[in-house]
Amino acid sequence: MSEIDALKVQLESLQSEALAAFAAAENPAALQQLRVHYLGKKGALTEVLKGVGRLPPEARPVIGQYVNDTKAVLAGALERGEAELAVRAKAIRIQAERIDITLPGRKAAAGGLHPVQQGLDEMTEIFSQMGFAIAEGPEIEDEFHNFDALNIPPEHPARAMHDTFFIKDMLNEAGTEPMLLRTHTSPVQIRAMKRFLSESGEPPLAVVAPGRVYRCDYDVTHSPMFHQVEVFKVDRNVSMAHLKGVLRHFLSAYFEKDVGIRLRPHYFPFTEPSAEVDISCVFCASKGCRICKGSGWIEVLGSGMIHPNVLRAVGIDSSEFSGFAFGLGVERLVMLKQGIPDLRLFFENDVRFLRKMGGTR
Ligand SMILES: [Zn+2]
Repeated sequence: MSEIDALKVQLESLQSEALAAFAAAENPAALQQLRVHYLGKKGALTEVLKGVGRLPPEARPVIGQYVNDTKAVLAGALERGEAELAVRAKAIRIQAERIDITLPGRKAAAGGLHPVQQGLDEMTEIFSQMGFAIAEGPEIEDEFHNFDALNIPPEHPARAMHDTFFIKDMLNEAGTEPMLLRTHTSPVQIRAMKRFLSESGEPPLAVVAPGRVYRCDYDVTHSPMFHQVEVFKVDRNVSMAHLKGVLRHFLSAYFEKDVGIRLRPHYFPFTEPSAEVDISCVFCASKGCRICKGSGWIEVLGSGMIHPNVLRAVGIDSSEFSGFAFGLGVERLVMLKQGIPDLRLFFENDVRFLRKMGGTR
């Protein structure tokens, strides 16, 4: 084979090798590297040109033309390759930025009421419909309203049982007694009766007082902060029968079924007589189950006739007026109604629990 033919073969194989490499290049940077490799100053084509010098002078223009043609073919291929890559890159970008306007929109997450707040609202609403006025009182109380006025004198053992949080270095306005976090909503009884009497002189009055209370206690069934609803009514001739009627109406309305109630004699310092109130088990229709411990009854609250000493503490004549009062644990009733097994679920605020309990406003 003549030298000129050998060069032609070399150029042809170089050209097909280069074209294959250009076609396989996946991005502009790779293509740029190939351009340098084949067409650069120290590239493969330049190497071939070096061989031209060894050719006889008359053969040089022929092979020179051949080299130029190869160069033109490769340059053209590179240009097309670059254009193609640019088109492909644009298509990829457009695909990535594509917005599917047929997709349904995302729902805005709506907040919901905490199950305890739902319970408080429901309970308050039932009493409100029965004509009870809603009252609130301070969570930081003095000993007088939390204990003394409720017939719990300083030496009374009930004080110790309340596991009270006292507030360090904080005294009442007179500077005579320490302040505390109220251990029950009963002090609102005292405050509401005093306020009511100063406004309208004398009973009747019927009040529902929902709110937070605090006790230094924590386990499966106790939380240091929980909620109570205090309900009381004072008028002439108020009796246990009224108490029982209001309880039965309330509990049946709250549990949305006709629940039986049972009053068991008990002792509370601020009521006389006092009774603990059981409802017929809402889980087993009183047949006996794990939750009612086989008895068919579940204890739900404490109640009684307001102790004459409590009426006296706010200046109501206990020989003329009488009243009933009861306080119920909000968490306990919500747990019974919703079948919630553990009190702590209310305070851990696991979003899955809260979502399950629903209650969007
Ligand atoms: Zn039961």
